[in-house]
Amino acid sequence: MTPLDGLAWANRFASLGPDFFTELPAQGLPDPHWVARSPACAEMLGWPAEWPQWPTALDVFAGNAAWPGMRPLAGVYSGHQFGVWAGQLGDGRALWLGEVDSPAGPQELQIKGGGLTPYSRRGDGRAVLRSSIREFLCSEAMAALGVPTTRALCITGSRLPVIRESVETAAIVTRVAPSFVRFGHFEHFAHHQQLDALRRLTDWFIAHHAPECADAPEPAVALLRKVALQTADLIAHWQAVGFCHGVMNTDNMSMLGLTLDYGPFGFMDGFDPGHVCNHSDDRGRYAYARQPAVAFWNLHALAQALLPLLPIDSEKDTEASTERLLEAVEAYRERFAGQMLGRMRAKLGLDGEQQGDQALADDFLKLMAASRADFTLSFRRLSRALSTPEPLRDLFIDREALDAWLARWRARTAPDAEARMLAVNPAVVLRNHLAEGAIRAARDGDFTEIERLLKVLGRPFDEPALPGDAALPPDWAQALEVSCSS
Ligand code: AMP
Ligand code: MG
Repeated sequence: MTPLDGLAWANRFASLGPDFFTELPAQGLPDPHWVARSPACAEMLGWPAEWPQWPTALDVFAGNAAWPGMRPLAGVYSGHQFGVWAGQLGDGRALWLGEVDSPAGPQELQIKGGGLTPYSRRGDGRAVLRSSIREFLCSEAMAALGVPTTRALCITGSRLPVIRESVETAAIVTRVAPSFVRFGHFEHFAHHQQLDALRRLTDWFIAHHAPECADAPEPAVALLRKVALQTADLIAHWQAVGFCHGVMNTDNMSMLGLTLDYGPFGFMDGFDPGHVCNHSDDRGRYAYARQPAVAFWNLHALAQALLPLLPIDSEKDTEASTERLLEAVEAYRERFAGQMLGRMRAKLGLDGEQQGDQALADDFLKLMAASRADFTLSFRRLSRALSTPEPLRDLFIDREALDAWLARWRARTAPDAEARMLAVNPAVVLRNHLAEGAIRAARDGDFTEIERLLKVLGRPFDEPALPGDAALPPDWAQALEVSCSS
């Protein structure tokens, strides 16, 4: 008996049938090597530390082999990109390997960068080492921050050249989630008027991932409401850690409210509500401050896709059905506002709820914006400002205004707030320059910096051993640009 015999594959998505995917093997990486593995993700799966030594593990996660029970397939979906209907997209370079049982429930495994699929369009089916390292590190960093996210198990690499703005090398990141179903899956079948498939997908998703919606008078409406609430929680979490996704297209929106498809994401350094992390987003559609509204817009696209599942035989029916879907989406607003205020109260160390809390939080953010004060450091240093305000004051230009705000804050906050604040205001986030350091070393064949960063990012609320990991970005980081190229 090999350890692989102990893995139980469920593959429930595959039961949906051929309307939803194409089964095909990966085009693997030639002569692959390990780049990185996440012990925390393996632990979540219930796999022992020696899993990389399981038979053919390297080849499986480099796309050159499959374990018994795996069923590689590429899914089809569509979506709105930058607010415009983009038509059919799909897993152009991701391949669903299968769904394995774990102590955390069934988990789907996907490799990203495993070659061409019927949905590759003009792409080459590959992912480069650079973007794979960024996705790997950020997935695990977000999980450690407590932000809902897809996880990353490992990266494999190869010398295979891949052409982007320059010639880079290929890699495959393996990601893990209870489901990779996106808003765009529903949009796809609605747009193509495949109502039977749309209904099957909805029933399937509810049965396996939202069973509490099954008994609602209108399960599709209940599902939409659930997704709206989960999305609100997710975006509030992003805003509270200064995370910008970069490409909030509807095909990158998870039906489980997970952070999905890490591309040109970024954690803000100096606070600027208009910050746009994606160099390709020239209109700033996905700027930090717009993320909450964009998620709301995306939920409307999902509502539109679900409409055909409700009575629409007459104009009156259609109007009433639309009304019920809009009401479900509307739940997002109140939930987001409540979650956001709750997170800000925790970040500021405020006990209980008082009238002026929103204004107190808003005023701190305004002061931060006026000084372009570092987002992560402002909250981290505020956590210690009851006893040592100087390091915080150093981040601000208008110190008088800050002192006036601090006086209001002191009057409102509990004297023992420090420990609680340090537990919610991270010391370390994956700043672009940290990822860049790991990428540059990896290109030279040194993967130790990835491993080191993974450990540091796994304990984001602890002061790191190297002060540089929690410090302001160095000057050279200003020149870093991230784009959709990956
Ligand atoms: P993204 O905005 O990165 O989430 O990708 C949008 C769409 O483009 C998805 O359908 C991806 O699968 C596809 N895609 C992105 N990069 C590639 C690539 N290099 N090869 C094939 N398809 C790709
Ligand atoms: Mg995507």
